[in-house]
Amino acid sequence: MTERNSGQKIVGLAPHRQSSFYGRDIVSVRQFGREDLAYIVSVADEMRGIVKRVGATDLLKGHVLANLFYEPSTRTSSSFIAAMERLGGSVIPIHGVQYSSVSKGESLPDTIRTLECYADVIVLRHPEVGASEVAARYCSKPVISAGDGVGEHPTQGLLDLYTIYTELGRLDGLHVAMVGDLHNGRTVHSLARLMQLYDTRFSFVSPESLRLPADIKEALEGAGRVVVETDRVEEVIDQVDVLYVTRVQKERFADLSMYEAAKDYYVITPELMSGAKAKMALLHPLPRVGEIHYDVDSDPRAAYFRQMENGMYIRMALLAAVLGKA
Ligand code: ASP
Repeated sequence: MTERNSGQKIVGLAPHRQSSFYGRDIVSVRQFGREDLAYIVSVADEMRGIVKRVGATDLLKGHVLANLFYEPSTRTSSSFIAAMERLGGSVIPIHGVQYSSVSKGESLPDTIRTLECYADVIVLRHPEVGASEVAARYCSKPVISAGDGVGEHPTQGLLDLYTIYTELGRLDGLHVAMVGDLHNGRTVHSLARLMQLYDTRFSFVSPESLRLPADIKEALEGAGRVVVETDRVEEVIDQVDVLYVTRVQKERFADLSMYEAAKDYYVITPELMSGAKAKMALLHPLPRVGEIHYDVDSDPRAAYFRQMENGMYIRMALLAAVLGKA
């Protein structure tokens, strides 16, 4: 949190109910405690109910979201658009920054200063770690990170947590295994830090070169969590409640031969899943590029398509909450 974010930003809306999200930036999962998470999960449930019953509402009618993406995205960007539109608001979509003034050399702070003139909330995806905190410092409206480089992806972490809750009915007492590119995978970083708040046992499954960053591992251990590292998914598959699989993040490798060496390390197959618990959840933030075999898709424990649907409910909840309408 930046100094400016330690209080609530003024967004010029009369809140229905004050929540700790009102007027706040969402730049890191480190800003959340268990109460915040319980709150946002309950609002996401309400949003799911609204969408299932009537499709949309006019809660954010007249409000504008600027969706600013400096990196590729399918799910995050389109679910934020869908979320805002289902809440009755509208969207300024900037997905090809090459067609914006960024290509003329405009700085991030100036781009943010521009968009805050037109929008009530800004969603930002950027390749640099900490970019959303920088943007938040220059912005008087709430900034929501949609992923900053290899740093964090807080809204994905929230939707992953929401999915674990909806799939398994609880968040405490789970064994969570995270598999793949734990070093560069920002969704892993956010989800691990969120699950640290619960009584979680962690297994981190990766080749040596793609281990979880040391600071995150230390934070988990410092919070008293059991952390095991291994390079074999077979060692943990029969014990886990959550298997969170990720792709090797090709775009983060300076040396592509290192990517080639790591990319096919893990493939989740029906045979492997036959060794897993009957009640568990298989998650993936997507896109997958071979880590989960298509034959696994029909397995009832394969939750990754429900997970991406949940992304829209969580983002509806977040938009309504930061704008004081949840
Ligand atoms: N879509 C996720 C992200 O933006 C996961 C991934 O790209 O592998 O981080």
